[in-house]
Amino acid sequence: MKTLPFSKPGRWFRGNLHTHSTNSDGHRSPAQVCAYYRRRGYGFISLTDHFLENYGWPVSDTTPYRTKGFTTILGAELHTPKTSLGDQWHILAVGLPADFAPTGKRETGPQLAKRARDAGAYVAAAHPAWYDLTDRDVLALKAAHAIEIFNTTCARHNGKGDSTSYLDRLLSQGHRYHAIATDDAHFSPGRLDMGVNWVMVRARKHDPKSLLAALHAGSFYASQGPEIRDVKIERRRKLTVRTSGVRAVFVSGRGSLSAYAHAQATRDLTKTEMDVSKFRGSYARITIVDRRGNRAWTNPFEL
Ligand SMILES: [Zn+2]
Ligand SMILES: [Zn+2]
Repeated sequence: MKTLPFSKPGRWFRGNLHTHSTNSDGHRSPAQVCAYYRRRGYGFISLTDHFLENYGWPVSDTTPYRTKGFTTILGAELHTPKTSLGDQWHILAVGLPADFAPTGKRETGPQLAKRARDAGAYVAAAHPAWYDLTDRDVLALKAAHAIEIFNTTCARHNGKGDSTSYLDRLLSQGHRYHAIATDDAHFSPGRLDMGVNWVMVRARKHDPKSLLAALHAGSFYASQGPEIRDVKIERRRKLTVRTSGVRAVFVSGRGSLSAYAHAQATRDLTKTEMDVSKFRGSYARITIVDRRGNRAWTNPFEL
């Protein structure tokens, strides 16, 4: 519970942690990408171009596009051969130094992820469902803080944007990851891969360092629309979740463990109370679903 952000001091900042620009295979310039998210009320983004030789090893410089209400965290999506299926790895690194050294000829995915983490980055296994990573692949990325559980552009590309099953399987086996949702926006014509999945980060200050520290601390939740306003647990038993209007609230844990509430008739749920004593000894995480089917997800926590 200590890791959940809801009772922490600070404010909420909406952020997209995974985006591309014309510095790699995106369709808009860094300035245009930043302008898009700034105009939609985001507090920050990380522009994470593909860190590959053919693009000149970009850690895209977004510092010129920081304004009073909008900031950026430098980052990149890292690649190197090869996963169990023989693909290039996709490793999201948010909070990279601008001079992060090019990937070495023999550097493996796990080594590259570790080098990014050692350099201060918040590291995520990007879109595992999209390219059928095995659980063993994900676990090999020991440096990963998070699993990207939903990715807009993957949902639009091959229908495999949802990686929540990886999170639950690995949590059930005793591993611990945060859960991020991102756009991975490329602004590809017709794909509409922007402004759909984001994180809400709770931080005291609106600057890259504070936001990155909040990510490392797990002080955020992920969303496609609905808001999670508060989560409280009393006596390791009584859970109270306050949300924007939703049709369902799920608590999921190890294996089939679950607690749930569904809205009756036309009245949405905004305050949901449940007995969660059965989650002792398991992880728990909360998913809410609104009437459009959009979801929001807390990070996993223990009672
Ligand atoms: Zn990718
Ligand atoms: Zn990407």
